[in-house]
Amino acid sequence: MMVYETEDDLVVIDCGVLFPSVDQPGIDYIIPDVTYLTARRHKIRGIVLTHGHEDHLGALPYVLPQLDVPVFGTRFTLALLESRLGEHKELRPDLRLIQDHAPFKVGGLTVTAIPVAHSIPDAVALAIDTPAGVILHTGDFKVDDHPRDGRMTDKQALSRLGDAGIVALFSDSTNAGVPGHTTSEAVVATTLATLVASAPHRVVVSAFSSNIHRLQSVVEASEAAGRKVVAVGRSMQQNTQLALERGYLKARFGAFVELDQAQALRRDRITVLASGTQGEPMSALSRLAAGEHGQLQLEPGDRVILSSRKIPGNERAIGTLVNHLYRLGVEVLDDHTPGVHASGHACADEQREMLALCRPRFFVPVHGEYRHLVRHAALARDSGVDAARICIVEDGQPVELWGQGADIRLVRGAAVQSGHVFVDGKGVGDVGEIVLRDRRVLAETGMVLCVVILREDGTLVGGPDIVTRGVVHVDANQELLGRATEAVRKVLGDPGDCRDAANCAEKIRQTLRRFFRRELDRRPLILPVVMSM
Ligand SMILES: [Zn+2]
Repeated sequence: MMVYETEDDLVVIDCGVLFPSVDQPGIDYIIPDVTYLTARRHKIRGIVLTHGHEDHLGALPYVLPQLDVPVFGTRFTLALLESRLGEHKELRPDLRLIQDHAPFKVGGLTVTAIPVAHSIPDAVALAIDTPAGVILHTGDFKVDDHPRDGRMTDKQALSRLGDAGIVALFSDSTNAGVPGHTTSEAVVATTLATLVASAPHRVVVSAFSSNIHRLQSVVEASEAAGRKVVAVGRSMQQNTQLALERGYLKARFGAFVELDQAQALRRDRITVLASGTQGEPMSALSRLAAGEHGQLQLEPGDRVILSSRKIPGNERAIGTLVNHLYRLGVEVLDDHTPGVHASGHACADEQREMLALCRPRFFVPVHGEYRHLVRHAALARDSGVDAARICIVEDGQPVELWGQGADIRLVRGAAVQSGHVFVDGKGVGDVGEIVLRDRRVLAETGMVLCVVILREDGTLVGGPDIVTRGVVHVDANQELLGRATEAVRKVLGDPGDCRDAANCAEKIRQTLRRFFRRELDRRPLILPVVMSM
């Protein structure tokens, strides 16, 4: 999420989710902290979306109830958003369709969408006309001269804006550190056509279900090879349906078949489009790999093509998936095979091109981790942008443009509240770092609960009862747990010490902590429960 703000107006660009890492157990999504925005609700004129990826619009179902403002987007972006919001029936957002090159007003600001190539249809960069001059926000983009849908990054429009003067460029840094140029989708289409045509038996292609260009290549490859296509997995079925209905995915009549029809076809007459490229455990591809799909069983000689990159953090899950596939005797081709996948994010050569077209006065690398921003800044410097006019900022660090024309300055403003809010089930923001720390401790060590009942004079009348989870196998360790119980009983033996429940709880905690450390060299979470009669 990015925010552009003037004295009178505030416009939000994108509103995405992050997915949790393994050290954030139980978290479903991570959404932006919008405290800064809720305090300025009166001047927020709208949210403008650059494209339909989850990391650009996935937080809207959670943020829209807090910020009831119009949402602007291109046709495919809004279609995806509507399907996403369909799960949240209570929301009736004011959605406004934008067209390429047609300026639109967001409060006092005029915004123009410029087509860019990316791994999803209808992506745009945004030129925002502000009192300080035109700001160009690239969104996610690549430069592809042979995109599947003909939608190229509009270099002429960018160059015209550059001629007229761009005061600041905010550009996608994800692949700025990767030398060279991204592979064209046209190359991927050719590779997939060869791999589908030469497959002796069934072909399964897994790709991100929003990458309609990639799905188009799979459909064409299958049509050419005389194969029917079957979509498996919820997101793959939803997105192919949506893209077919709206004309983003083109297929001959009868090119797609349902799963039950596919079962009646010969193995070499089928291409399966499956979601789950990242090894998500419940996804269609993982279930196929584990032989648990129910309706579809992979067999030796089938070919699986993973037409995607490995998102950092998912390597293990993908590795497990590939192991399972190999055990079934299936051939696996992944992004190590040239031309099987192409990134949607501009590499270094394309970034240089973007800078040359825009010739911005100031440059701010965005979208990416800190290391990506630093590499992008270095690239801009090497491309001739004055180092004093490049500004690397992290979340919550505003940059401000002051002055006019030749005297304009870019300075760092005072940091504002920002950051991550965790979504867990129906709870938004109720799980914080402290709860997560407890979850991590529980996951690492397990817990020991010890219940005692005391009379008012401190005499033990019930317990100690010890219950454990995730520490030892209870049935096999009765003797050990019996000794733990004895140790607690012994330390509570002197009634004078136990009149105070807090004091008693602390004694139990210390005793059990010592006991488990001495006996097992483990540090489970100890929970004493002291009840008084
Ligand atoms: Zn994207």
